[in-house]
Amino acid sequence: MEPFESDFENRIVSARFTPMDAESETGEENSLRPQTLADYVGQEKTKDNLRVFIQAAKMRGESLDHILLYGPPGLGKTTLSHIIANELGVNIRITSGPAIEKPGDLAAILSGLSAGDVLFIDEIHRLSRAVEEILYPAMEDFALDIIMGQGPAARSIRIPLEKFTLIGATTRAGSLSSPLRDRFGMLMRLELYTVEELGRIVTWSAGILGIPVEEDGALEIASRSRGTPRIANRLLKRVRDFALVRGDGVITVDIARHALKKLEIDELGLDKIDRKLLSAIIKSFSGGPVGLETLSATIGEEAVTIEDVYEPYLMQIGFLSRTPRGRCATPLAYQHLGVDFQPGAGGQLSFDDLTGGKA
Ligand code: ADP
Repeated sequence: MEPFESDFENRIVSARFTPMDAESETGEENSLRPQTLADYVGQEKTKDNLRVFIQAAKMRGESLDHILLYGPPGLGKTTLSHIIANELGVNIRITSGPAIEKPGDLAAILSGLSAGDVLFIDEIHRLSRAVEEILYPAMEDFALDIIMGQGPAARSIRIPLEKFTLIGATTRAGSLSSPLRDRFGMLMRLELYTVEELGRIVTWSAGILGIPVEEDGALEIASRSRGTPRIANRLLKRVRDFALVRGDGVITVDIARHALKKLEIDELGLDKIDRKLLSAIIKSFSGGPVGLETLSATIGEEAVTIEDVYEPYLMQIGFLSRTPRGRCATPLAYQHLGVDFQPGAGGQLSFDDLTGGKA
């Protein structure tokens, strides 16, 4: 386990899948997944394109082109892959980059696929180089190149595969090697959701879980979910507990506010760690710029976690800017934390920041 992992995984607004999400009766994370594109909320541009590509693949009777889905955790990449397989009427096989240790493991998975099947590889940026090389001919020519023997007697034989669709998911498209990235026919970026969209997701999930929720209550949860459906579903379950114990079981706006206050999640969805991050930039580094590694050491969170999980939302709400010289807190962040903004403090951008130092 990585040094800072446990703290982060216990965080209620963590966007990653945690045991909390799978708790209870039926593995709720799965039961909350919509099954069709029509029920998948938001991501309109991506859905419009997918509809066309799925229909065209069906009309041609061919497999769908390979797709790379990228964006922060918890935005619906796995859910969307299930839906794509469902809409195509094919099977989906699910695995992840770190789970495939040897080239032979991937070769076995690939040769087990039937025509048209979807292979979903989560965290595809974490495939080892040796495993990745098996993917190149598989994606391009639907074949496995196997080396038999060793030294001068070695020869390569080619084994044909059924035509399949690879869906790769990643939080960091920039970490993919270019030979791998170039073999995807479609690159689709998932965006953070609006409060209105998250409100629809909360209402949908509440319906499945049998939780009575008023519209204002759903929107209150939505507005504190950092643009992320997984967090919205998790907060819904926690607020449900307060509604049962403190109220009559119905999630009203008052119950939602009370519960979220107890959970130390503020009106913007920021928790203790977000506030720690911002206040470290403001108080220890005069508003920035501060380098990612320094920030990571100061607050005791992994650099990749800061980059993938905390920063996208803090940037989206205009609290943080990334500059070539490091991270800066914006006047909005000062205001939110109740600290006076000092013009001329590090939070201001210099000419170098704006030009990337290349002017
Ligand atoms: P990712 O693979 O990007 O980490 P998931 O696909 O596992 O995210 O989604 C996390 C949860 O959020 C799922 O259980 C699903 O219920 C919910 N969810 C995600 N996207 C949507 C959406 N567009 N509409 C409705 N629910 C969604």
